[in-house]
Amino acid sequence: MKTLLRIALVLLALGLPAWYALVQYSPPPNHDYALDLPRIRALAQSLPGDKPTELRYEHVMDFRFAEAMVMAGAPWRWTPIPVMAWQLVYPDKTVIVDTAMNRELAKPDFLVPMYDDTAYAHLQAAMEKASLIVLTHEHMDHIGGLAAHPHLTQLLPALRLTDEQLDNPKGMAPAALPAAAMQGYQPLRYDGMMALAPGVVLIKSPGHTPGSQIVYVQRADGRELLLLGDVSWQMRNIEQVRERPLFMTAMIGENRQQVLGEFAALHALTQSAPEVKLVPGHDGDTVRALTAQGLMTPGFKL
Ligand SMILES: [Zn+2]
Repeated sequence: MKTLLRIALVLLALGLPAWYALVQYSPPPNHDYALDLPRIRALAQSLPGDKPTELRYEHVMDFRFAEAMVMAGAPWRWTPIPVMAWQLVYPDKTVIVDTAMNRELAKPDFLVPMYDDTAYAHLQAAMEKASLIVLTHEHMDHIGGLAAHPHLTQLLPALRLTDEQLDNPKGMAPAALPAAAMQGYQPLRYDGMMALAPGVVLIKSPGHTPGSQIVYVQRADGRELLLLGDVSWQMRNIEQVRERPLFMTAMIGENRQQVLGEFAALHALTQSAPEVKLVPGHDGDTVRALTAQGLMTPGFKL
């Protein structure tokens, strides 16, 4: 009995610090990342032409995560993790940001409570008509719909994969860009920031993955959004400047210091420029709120 008690005490002594480190703890933020809003706004004006009139979305599926997997120290409560694709609608063209993922990759079933085949079909059709296709990063729930597209070769003239994204096939797995279709594809190279289209600026934000980038959008009516991709999954990370728990970031292979620097810069932006609306990668509450404010609209234009 005494031995059992000793073993239990040793396990507790080892287990509690491990639990704290892996599940509860988020390191203090740093200030290694800067978002230069005046320069971003200037770049958004730098290309001639009309700005997008609408930001639309397809909600393709939900993962089921615990809140504790989204942010260190959050409760162990189930929460849906919506997987979205975005469409910027111009008077004369469309731009797609992120491509969700195909049903074949959406496993196991108990972690995928919802998959909308119609939304996915709309996304696939819209990709064929898009003038530009960009990805916030190379993970399967953002690149999967592109990798599985039946006419991938036809999409290449519109596709602006960055060199960091293309160079990270491990990060895409289990999604994979078919080598034959991608042969000769020239990726996009830029440093820091670049204007992609009128009102749209790409902003390098490595950390969650090497190829992560934020997409700034200024609509024709002047309203502004930042599509954050998975720099943060939900607003709570930015509000509290708290990372995903270590067991998740280790699984992802994330650079926590880079991500925390981005959280700090985004948190500062919510104070200095609250008119710029942040859109984390998997945050249903934010999407519902911004939809209610008329900043985004459900359903792609086909
Ligand atoms: Zn994601």
